[in-house]
Amino acid sequence: MAAVKTILILEDNEERITDFTRVVGELGQEYEIKFWRDAHSMCRECEAFFKTAALVSLDHDLNPAAGAAGDPGTGLDVAKFLADFIPVCPVLLHSSNTDRVYSMSNEFRFAGWTVDRVGPLGAGWISTSWLPKVRELIAQHSNTWKTELPADHASRVERMIASLDGLSIGDALGEMFAYRPERVSSLIQQNELHSGPWFHTDDTEMAISIVAVLKSQGHIDQDALSRRFSRRFERDPERGYGKMTRIQLRDNLAGVPWQVTSANAFGGRGSMGNGGAMRVAPLGAYFADDLNRVVKEAQASSMVTHVHPEGIAGTVATAVAAAMAWQLREASPAERAKRLFEAVLQLTPESEVRRKILVANQTPPEVDLEAVAKALGRGDLVTAPDTVPFCVWIAAHYLDNYPDALAAAICVGGDCDTNAAIVGGIVAAGVGRDGIPQSWLECKEPFLI
Ligand SMILES: [Mg+2]
Repeated sequence: MAAVKTILILEDNEERITDFTRVVGELGQEYEIKFWRDAHSMCRECEAFFKTAALVSLDHDLNPAAGAAGDPGTGLDVAKFLADFIPVCPVLLHSSNTDRVYSMSNEFRFAGWTVDRVGPLGAGWISTSWLPKVRELIAQHSNTWKTELPADHASRVERMIASLDGLSIGDALGEMFAYRPERVSSLIQQNELHSGPWFHTDDTEMAISIVAVLKSQGHIDQDALSRRFSRRFERDPERGYGKMTRIQLRDNLAGVPWQVTSANAFGGRGSMGNGGAMRVAPLGAYFADDLNRVVKEAQASSMVTHVHPEGIAGTVATAVAAAMAWQLREASPAERAKRLFEAVLQLTPESEVRRKILVANQTPPEVDLEAVAKALGRGDLVTAPDTVPFCVWIAAHYLDNYPDALAAAICVGGDCDTNAAIVGGIVAAGVGRDGIPQSWLECKEPFLI
């Protein structure tokens, strides 16, 4: 029997659903049909059908189902959701709301999807207009969805999300204490932190994009990652993005490829900022059992915005540290720090970042935090060499205590949100969600992956 091909349809009208079902039967036995009657459930569930999707067909205006509570959303919601992904299959729009059909069409078109439309006019339009257009589209365009999901994908995603939660809370707490970092330790110890939500910054926004790509595709697809970075920025630009990143993401939105914007940053030198490192710990968690893969995927994630060797080195060092936090979760504290440094030094390319991690490795845990920050930097320059070695030192020596790790990362000042995002993401990869105080998880700003 031929492989199953799925037609994914957003449609709330029962008569139309009956007609769609009947005419799809004419396409052949291998075609199955999957309906959603509201936009939210389609956004929640449709990704599971990407692998077999032959065509997506969307209505726009939706009525609430009988007895259903809440707003059913619109076809434009689904269009925006799908356009965050690399193209999966052709799309056909079958709404009579002409204005919104153009908005939906633009979402898909600008994201590189094949999209066409058909007017639901006259009796029998599903047979006479929709079906011929479906035949034409599926004859010309096959499924383009590429995934490489490993057998243990679900458990990898679970530890990746734990790292992301740790990163996000660190980011938000670091931002909250950026102007009074000396108070963080006592307020954490006395459990007197402000009530939530604790709003995160660009570090978490970009980490969410990495997590979303890995969750969907199981590897860093750089085009998909660039698209997610820029689309999240477009929807919510006021998250404290750095100036150069804003320029790059704006250019990406205008159609300039990431290869060009990334290479052109800072007069063609590429960015050596800490932006590659600040978002990468969850990637280390996802690939934690394979350090060579961690290096390769971390490099790929950095290249989308940070191609300078120092920017890449900081990204690799952070991702390897997160992977080691997971690998060493059963080891003794002394062994943990030693082995984490060994792995990071072995895999981080020769660079200023690596030279300062060598210094960090020779700095014992008893040394005063202010002195460590002074020797290694604390992110004031927002570069990878000025940020990552200090964060790796904190993570290595606080690997089993998430709250203390964050307090240590924040209390000396500097680039507080990014330092705490890096440390929080690394440490949470090892301690998991159970190692993060429950009340902190509840204060975390909610977000969907
Ligand atoms: Mg930030």
